Amino acid sequence: MTKRYGQWIGGAEVEPASGEYLICREPGRPDVVCETPAGSRDDVDTAVAAAKAAWDGWRARKPIERGRVLAAIAARLRAESAYLAALEAAQAGKPPGLAPLEIEAAATYFEFYAGLVNHPDGEVIDLGPGMHAYTVREPFGVVAIITPWNAPLNQACRGIAPALAVGNTVVAKPSEFTSATTLELARIATQAGLPDGVLNVLTGDAESVGAPLVEHPDVRKVAFTGSVTAGRAIGRVAAERIIPVTLELGGKGPNIIFADADLAAAVRGSIPAFLANAGQICSAGTRLLVHEDVHDQVVNALVAGLATVEPGVAYGSITTEAQFAKVQSYLRIAEEEGAKLTTGGTVLDRPGWYIAPTVFTEVTNDMRIAREEIFGPVLSVIRFADEDEAVAIANDTPYGLSAGLWTRDLSRAHRVAARLEAGQVYVNEWQHGLVEGPFGGYKQSGVGREKGAEALHHYTQTKFVSIRL
Ligand code: NAD
Repeated sequence: MTKRYGQWIGGAEVEPASGEYLICREPGRPDVVCETPAGSRDDVDTAVAAAKAAWDGWRARKPIERGRVLAAIAARLRAESAYLAALEAAQAGKPPGLAPLEIEAAATYFEFYAGLVNHPDGEVIDLGPGMHAYTVREPFGVVAIITPWNAPLNQACRGIAPALAVGNTVVAKPSEFTSATTLELARIATQAGLPDGVLNVLTGDAESVGAPLVEHPDVRKVAFTGSVTAGRAIGRVAAERIIPVTLELGGKGPNIIFADADLAAAVRGSIPAFLANAGQICSAGTRLLVHEDVHDQVVNALVAGLATVEPGVAYGSITTEAQFAKVQSYLRIAEEEGAKLTTGGTVLDRPGWYIAPTVFTEVTNDMRIAREEIFGPVLSVIRFADEDEAVAIANDTPYGLSAGLWTRDLSRAHRVAARLEAGQVYVNEWQHGLVEGPFGGYKQSGVGREKGAEALHHYTQTKFVSIRL
């Protein structure tokens, strides 16, 4: 029988006020994965009230005690990783090899922040004789964490773990397409000893749950991951309410291969950089900038490399039907714009919404396929003549999330890294620092940082205390 979830509120499953449920199917297949609640404003009110009621108790815990609970959640996530990975793979269309890595990263967030509960400590500020002054970092209260469908549990944990570590309580809203693993996390957290109400999970769509959550007067901070359009709408509400917001939005990552690079390694690394998760990664390297001297060699190696990648192994299905249609529309746009289809460009004849890894060459940076986030397995290859031109093309984008470069010249690596307008720059690798390094965007890719120790500053605010002795 299909599993039917409730909302997770106050440490237990609760029927949605609407009494209605959304059916979650495997992407592009008839198979039903589960049913999740169709949430509403009433559910938001109940969940926020539960989070608010739990706040005093949770923030009053010694940091080390909060850390112990977070560590226990990490252990339970690992103990259930096979089950969670299968569920994640089913709801999001991921290949069996990828989902376990995402569950492991989800557990690592809790492990990492369990060890950092004391990190955002204050400082003593010298005001001169007769005075003692210091700062402390304090939690906001109820934090809303809103996440998309491409790496559901991973992204939920990326926000939830640091938010809880420093004493906030959370109402999380996963994507309506992929809610199951975030609901399972709430169950696991409760079983691991997280007090009731500290983490609540509401499912439902943007209009019925997402917007009311951001508007709720008792929500004191919003951490959002998703599209620029939704980020802008949420930012507007946050501005109206004067609450802080972290926005992790889209990207159009430039991945630069210089002529002096280890070309075999560069091609090997550049394939997963655009293809992992069927390209549905905000930090993907989707614009491959190649020096003209090695352009043909790189493209030939890329095409040869892609000929060996297996669908269902190296990459999975597109997750939603709308996204499947969107990616196909860009295949047509690329052709209309005069880009040269070098490999791929087809829908695969197999269950699921599969698109063959696609490479367009002869792309110029003014084409829509070079400017707009496609969020699919599509790579645009652009030539450059020298370092200045590479940097200019790389930065000629409204986005600024991730960028990368491949070179054997250490001076060039530092020089170019300094000039790239991006929150993350990868040299001779693509996205190794999954949990420990700060992550976020320049320009329209977002505001604030998740991950690393730095995220803790975005889940706390500073209080200055001065005392006359
Ligand atoms: P989306 O913006 O449509 O939705 C994301 C989440 O926000 C969902 O839970 C949705 O229900 C909710 N939502 C949408 N509008 C809302 C509103 N006005 N108020 C409150 N909640 C709202 O994005 P998506 O289609 O689910 O995900 C794909 C996008 O996410 C891509 O653009 C991708 O680049 C981006 N993304 C960014 C990162 C990052 O860390 N920078 C990571 C993954 C995905």
